[in-house]
Amino acid sequence: MATVEARRLTKVFDEVRAVDGIDLLAKEGEFLVLLGPSGCGKTTLMRMIAGLEGPTAGDVVIDGRVVTDLPPRARNIAMVFQSYALYPHLTVEKNISFPLRAVGMPKEEIRKKVDWAARMFGIERFLDRKPRQLSGGERQRVALARAVVREPVVFLLDEPLSNLDAKLRNSARDELKQFQRQLGTTTIYVTHDQAEAMGLGDRIAVLDHGKVCQIGTPQEIYDHPSDTFVATFIGSPPMNLVDEGGTMLGFRPEAFLPKEVEPDGAREVFRFRITRIEYLGADRLVYGVIEGRTPEAHVISKIPTNIRTEIAAGETYDFAVRHVDMKRFDARSGRVLDGGAR
Ligand code: ATP
Repeated sequence: MATVEARRLTKVFDEVRAVDGIDLLAKEGEFLVLLGPSGCGKTTLMRMIAGLEGPTAGDVVIDGRVVTDLPPRARNIAMVFQSYALYPHLTVEKNISFPLRAVGMPKEEIRKKVDWAARMFGIERFLDRKPRQLSGGERQRVALARAVVREPVVFLLDEPLSNLDAKLRNSARDELKQFQRQLGTTTIYVTHDQAEAMGLGDRIAVLDHGKVCQIGTPQEIYDHPSDTFVATFIGSPPMNLVDEGGTMLGFRPEAFLPKEVEPDGAREVFRFRITRIEYLGADRLVYGVIEGRTPEAHVISKIPTNIRTEIAAGETYDFAVRHVDMKRFDARSGRVLDGGAR
């Protein structure tokens, strides 16, 4: 186990500041997720931590030791990337044992380690197969097994689940979290999928344009977004934002409900003209406009299907948001105004 730190880490490619002075600390044993849109600098940051990319400025510190000038193999880090990069001509067993053979580990020890990793990832029965004879999920487990046999102090995982279908992704996510807990290895995980980030991360760092916008537990990020970017990047559908001239009022779709649903407590009531209702099984997404506002305030309400309420498109109703669920942001900077930031 180790801590991993980025100190004012910067990478400039030609004109692009891919990573722009990032300070970040992954604590010992932590599962830290880097979340952000395509091009925000996630992979570049990971590659610098791994030693595959030299920074333009700043340092990478592992367990208190500056490793910026050390090559990847001296950092005791294991990486699993989107493509897994398994050797197609080698069996699963040979793939997993590859890094151990490369350092000349005795055969008997290698066999023990491979057995241990194969058991942990439930791939014992595939040891004699080649990667092409495995499903995407199985291949991913082989890649993870190959990463753990080296007993690295840090895992860097860059979108390792993105090749899997939705169902497999869910179970793989679950497994990954369990393995990480079991091993206790400090893990940094890159994704642009917020559901994955929320499900996996002990903490999430939300990145945009090469900077960290906010870092916190999934709940802190969800409940107390530091700015409108985080507020609208996290949550499906994203937080509603209503322009109030100089400030933006923000509230989540699930906090915007028919008035009669939550009749008590301090709240604000809006006249909501419904334009469209989407039935999603567990929820209904209700699209519409808050009346009497310029510019027009388009918002969404997310109503659990088990809340029985008679609503129809084309009609106007009273909808309410509790005061505790309202956020205010500066319209110009996007920063939260009412103590929502952590
Ligand atoms: P994605 O989710 O699409 O993989 P990302 O967040 O991982 O994106 P990076 O791959 O780190 O983003 O790229 C960050 C920025 O740096 C992008 O604008 C990208 O075009 C640029 N970039 C990355 N690598 C290079 C390179 N070798 N040369 C020039 N520009 C680069």
